Amino acid sequence: MKKTMSLLDASEFAQRQFRQTSSATLPNPLLDQRQRPLRDLRISVTDRCNFRCMYCMPKSAFGRDHAFLSHSEVLRFEEITRLAKLFARLGVRKIRLTGGEPLLRKNIERLIEMLATIDGIDLTLTTNASILAEKAPSLRDAGLQRITVSLDAIDDAMFRRMNDVDFPLARVLDGIDAAARVGLTPIKINAVVKRSINESAILPLVRHFKGSGHIVRFIEFMDVGATNGWRMDDVISAAEIVALINAEFPLEPVDPNYHGEVAERWRFKDGSGEIGVIASVTQAFCRDCTRMRLSANGQLFTCLFADHGYDIRALLRSDADDDTLLRAIAAAWQSRDDNYSERRTANTPRAQRIEMSYIGG
Ligand code: SAM
Ligand code: SF4
Ligand code: SF4
Repeated sequence: MKKTMSLLDASEFAQRQFRQTSSATLPNPLLDQRQRPLRDLRISVTDRCNFRCMYCMPKSAFGRDHAFLSHSEVLRFEEITRLAKLFARLGVRKIRLTGGEPLLRKNIERLIEMLATIDGIDLTLTTNASILAEKAPSLRDAGLQRITVSLDAIDDAMFRRMNDVDFPLARVLDGIDAAARVGLTPIKINAVVKRSINESAILPLVRHFKGSGHIVRFIEFMDVGATNGWRMDDVISAAEIVALINAEFPLEPVDPNYHGEVAERWRFKDGSGEIGVIASVTQAFCRDCTRMRLSANGQLFTCLFADHGYDIRALLRSDADDDTLLRAIAAAWQSRDDNYSERRTANTPRAQRIEMSYIGG
């Protein structure tokens, strides 16, 4: 974590939340400054990862001297579950576990069991699938409903280069098969596309998964964090990706599954499934962004590109009651005015930004 990151300390935070009098009077739906409701929560369960994807945790920045969070800094399962229940009371309907690599968190199945007891929550997880082949049955048994796998190439040599730890593609594919066998479906396969690095992987990925029932979604390379050397020239736009695929496999647009869905959906005209594109750079979707993020050490972020968080862990560990926590979360959401992607320029300064592996992608 960057030392320069300014977190609101607990007392400043507490003063803000006392603008509300009681959680009983909180508005429903809870809206931010741009009239967006709070609907999704992404929980980062660890800042560690066994991959060093160049667009996320490049070795140059996450080498041996990088200080990862210590055990006591990281939220315990009971703390995460308590917060998740409060988020559900504030309108959250979907929880995604992420990281870092969430499957590296010890006993992650136990956390899933605890979260699966919360009524009305769609529970899912995003993983690099490095240990999914072993874990898929226990994740399903614990109550996980679906899974998203990140996979940026379907060629072994290219995949090993992209994860930068020489991890073999075959084990990821085994993980996807295992997840499908136990019914963690529909499986989404997320591929970040970076110009000159893996643009040649787009069509092979489509060919490989077409007809499998899995949905490949191509993501524009984003300027998250301050270490991945992002340049606008490296972004391949969603429109380019769709045009490329359409030339080989004719596509037609599909309506979103729900209002505010981030992926634009396209189906193969031959009826063999669909793909998605996430145009986070070229067609910003801040207008419909209903997501809050909880980092592994209990900081709340209202935007992926935030330069500060709200220290909810300090309140949790100061024996605050549920009412106080509810008001604190509500205050953070109500003061939210983020729309970074709508304002991004090629020259926006990046020094203060928090890394995606920390904030939870
Ligand atoms: N380790 C897990 C994984 O890779 O699926 C979960 C955490 S990872 C940070 C979550 C997602 O963020 C992945 O799908 C990854 O591809 C995406 N991601 C990371 N850096 C990105 C970037 N610079 N631009 C776009 N997507 C990025
Ligand atoms: Fe790890 Fe996921 Fe980041 Fe790759 S994208 S380095 S797998 S956290
Ligand atoms: Fe949401 Fe921030 Fe991304 Fe806009 S830039 S879509 S507000 S996370």
